[in-house]
Amino acid sequence: AKIQGLYDEPEAHSHDILEFKDGRVFERDSLPQYIDGEVVGRVWSFRDISEHRRLQNELTHQAFHDPLTGLANQALFRDRVDHAAARLARNGGQLAVLFVDLDDFKTVNDSLGHAVGDRVLLEVAQRISTSIRAADTAARFGGDEFAVLLEDVQELSAAVETAERILEAVGRPLTLEGNELVIRASLGISVVEAGSASDADELIRNADAAMYIAKSDGKGGYRVFEPAMHERVVARLELRADLQRALEREEFVLHYQPLVRLEDGAMTGIEALLRWQHPVRGIVAPLEFVPFAEETGLIVDIGRWVLREGCRQAKELRAQIPGPVKPAIGINLSVKQLFHADIVADVASALADADLEPEALTLEITESVMMTDTEMAVSRLNELRDLGVRLAMDDFGTGYSSLSSLSLFPLDILKMDRSLLAAGAAPVTSGIASAVLSLGETFQLEVVAEGIEFPEQSTTLKELGCDTGQGFYFARPMPPEQLMAYLSAHPGAAAGVVAPTGSD
Ligand code: C2E
Ligand code: CA
Ligand code: CA
Repeated sequence: AKIQGLYDEPEAHSHDILEFKDGRVFERDSLPQYIDGEVVGRVWSFRDISEHRRLQNELTHQAFHDPLTGLANQALFRDRVDHAAARLARNGGQLAVLFVDLDDFKTVNDSLGHAVGDRVLLEVAQRISTSIRAADTAARFGGDEFAVLLEDVQELSAAVETAERILEAVGRPLTLEGNELVIRASLGISVVEAGSASDADELIRNADAAMYIAKSDGKGGYRVFEPAMHERVVARLELRADLQRALEREEFVLHYQPLVRLEDGAMTGIEALLRWQHPVRGIVAPLEFVPFAEETGLIVDIGRWVLREGCRQAKELRAQIPGPVKPAIGINLSVKQLFHADIVADVASALADADLEPEALTLEITESVMMTDTEMAVSRLNELRDLGVRLAMDDFGTGYSSLSSLSLFPLDILKMDRSLLAAGAAPVTSGIASAVLSLGETFQLEVVAEGIEFPEQSTTLKELGCDTGQGFYFARPMPPEQLMAYLSAHPGAAAGVVAPTGSD
């Protein structure tokens, strides 16, 4: 038995702990016995504290381990990194921290449920654990983030090999309840040598930054940390703060692009397209910030603003337009917005506050919605349609949709992606364009051809039975105050008689 505790003075009360190989633990006390002030012996007492100790160990384990996966938690991981860094200073060598973050895990959770999500995390934890040596530490940082400490790394290539092994292991298909899933992860590596004063926080932060860059450079890969990465991370964080400020300072504006009925040139719709009036950079196009806003979730707030502002301006415009044809307003919804719990209430209140009739609003959802949880998407779209608004499938024909799922979606309009139009001024349209048009006919959907730049395209599409066109040939997106001028210059667009002439 291992004995702790001392009795340097024979008179003293002594106390120690006995730990036996079989796991039993005893507390041992002895008290001196006196006769006439002389110690004549000791009274020993023993207490079995095995159960107490077991509980204590369990609590300690719980305090330092992730309950779901049993891996080290953040606190223990930081401690291990700190100790490893201290050892490094004494013994030399290198150590590496790997930061692993699953790609699109939220989609798994949202579409398959948390129980499946937990099993994925458990499986990933096991795969990471079996990809490293026993002396290395794997930890779960919470959510879908994991970290690995590699001690005694001879050279960078060893850390890279482990990173590749982990990504390969995590990426192997896994079968859960009959579903085959492929989970990918992005990974960042930070390596430190003896002599560079790095603490756990810095190492982890660097690995995290490298992971962030790996993810934004395209998912499923790894990057080794370089100091310049911090600048990129900071730039993205700044963009985030900038966007938030842009909302508060009302730096966003909407431009509007007409949708034109090919048959008679009437402006039957306008699409609201977001622009950022940046105080320094000037007008910033949506492709430069919308994807980022989607990634960070900011799109929900920005999109709510678009809805309110779009409905408000549409109401005004429709009142000003004299002819019988009042344009509907098209507003783009990102998939993130569609899945946000408040979306139906947001649309309803935007309509009510603007006093706009629901039929005057078309919500455009990109085809990528078909890649998500179909059931959830369909029920959301049905709720929106129950408000009386119309629904358009945007960028249609770019690849995600299958015919069978298209029939599940409650749609009114197909917006054919502009990549389906023949390039240049050639009058012919692609076979896919004709296929989309016949799909529209089958499902009784209005088809809008996007990106019409040449009169020949417009003519061919009209002959093929396409209802509506949109593109630079008719008009570019413009600020709302120019729309009235556009209508005066193209009287047919308002009255629905004369075809417009391309002006750009
Ligand atoms: P989108 O919904 O497909 O919008 C049409 C885009 O095509 C617009 O680009 C428009 O300016 C451009 N376009 C129109 N006619 C032509 C043409 O004849 N030729 C060419 N080459 N392009 C044409 P924009 O305004 O830069 O918007 C890009 C994308 O940003 C939009 O694609 C949409 O996906 C997204 N977006 C714009 N506003 C919003 C918004 O308020 N919310 C969300 N979630 N996304 C938005
Ligand atoms: Ca659109
Ligand atoms: Ca589109």
